[in-house]
Amino acid sequence: MRISHFLLATLKENPADAEVISHQLMLRAGMVRRLAAGLYTWLPLGLRVLRKVENIVRDEMDKSGAQEILMPAVQPAELWQESGRWDQYGPELLRFKDRHDREFCYGPTHEEIITNLIRNEIRSYKQLPINLYQIQTKFRDEIRPRFGIMRGREFLMKDSYSFHLEQSSLDETYELMYKTYSNIFNRLGLKFRAVLADNGNIGGSRSHEFHVLAESGEDAIAYSTTGDYAANVEVFEDGVKAGDPSPDGKSVLDIARGIEVGHIFQLGDKYAKAMGASVLDEDGKSATLIMGCYGIGVSRLVAATIEQNHDKNGIIWPESIAPFSVALLPMNMHKSQRVREAAEDLYNKLQAVGVDVLFDDRKERPGVMFANAELIGIPHRIVIGERGLDKSEVEYKGRLDEKSQNISIDRIIDFIIG
Ligand code: ATP
Ligand code: MG
Repeated sequence: MRISHFLLATLKENPADAEVISHQLMLRAGMVRRLAAGLYTWLPLGLRVLRKVENIVRDEMDKSGAQEILMPAVQPAELWQESGRWDQYGPELLRFKDRHDREFCYGPTHEEIITNLIRNEIRSYKQLPINLYQIQTKFRDEIRPRFGIMRGREFLMKDSYSFHLEQSSLDETYELMYKTYSNIFNRLGLKFRAVLADNGNIGGSRSHEFHVLAESGEDAIAYSTTGDYAANVEVFEDGVKAGDPSPDGKSVLDIARGIEVGHIFQLGDKYAKAMGASVLDEDGKSATLIMGCYGIGVSRLVAATIEQNHDKNGIIWPESIAPFSVALLPMNMHKSQRVREAAEDLYNKLQAVGVDVLFDDRKERPGVMFANAELIGIPHRIVIGERGLDKSEVEYKGRLDEKSQNISIDRIIDFIIG
């Protein structure tokens, strides 16, 4: 991509209303722009990252054997009345009427819709277990949207739903999702922790949240200082505190801050029973299904990754989700034909081997080019200048390297893709 053809919307100043570092950097790097409270437009730079996160999530879900579907965002009230949640769900549920005066909501989650689908499509135990997922926009009228896309009102979620006849089968899929989530967060290079969780207004019995550890996290996690025990402090009725004994009886608790990026639940028969989702079992008798549901905050993950990966100069993207892999910065290309030719040549060659390269072909001062490349967090930087070309060399610097190094122009591509 040539910057001259790209909407690079970087800001020099820190936006005054952005409290956490990821929100500041997403605005400064030109990844998103606010439209209204909790509503954001994704600019080209931000969308490239969001799509990469989405594709890692999709890839790991597919590998787990789950199948992708896409359900409507707008949902009829009747299904929510059947499950009983039309009256239980508070003002977070955005409700509205169509032209025929029928009631609808914009989906904050999709248990009712999937249960309706399954009760119509699945007839026999032989079709089970099944795990269906979607990656889709949700709306929750959050009382306090904040921290940019971290707590938006409209946000991108991966939600999946599994259906079973036997508890042992639900346990198996639950474990598989636990592993799949760990794979996803590892591929994103995140430091995370799975913790026991409260079930909130979704119901059910067993659940774990996945938290990205960060000071700015809205949740407090109590963890055993020597054992494996970890839980959201919400699970303790009387709150809990550092120094309290750990429920595993092995040690004392300490408290860390976390950003919830994923949540897996065993829902049991709550929705299937209320909505009459059953199949014929091996003996030909009708049996009510049991269900698990599994969410990932895809857009929130972008912000959470920044919370863990930044320095004073900007974002430090992990290779797996960087908007571009290489920043190609020619020095005074508009005056030097030789620099221009070498830069154009390297740009074409990098693209030919499939490297996402951002070519700074603007008439900008070197300082501006360097600052922009660091701010938007590109993992590799290649500088081409007259002096280097005298020795057939370019200057290379990794985003985390302290110093740059000179590399022969013939070797640079292998060095990058190596
Ligand atoms: P929270 O406790 O943060 O409000 P939740 O428990 O209500 O989240 P879930 O119903 O478990 O959320 O939704 C699945 C995932 O969707 C969450 O783990 C989180 O990563 C993401 N998510 C939830 N609410 C928001 C939001 N307002 N903005 C962005 N992502 C969100
Ligand atoms: Mg949750």
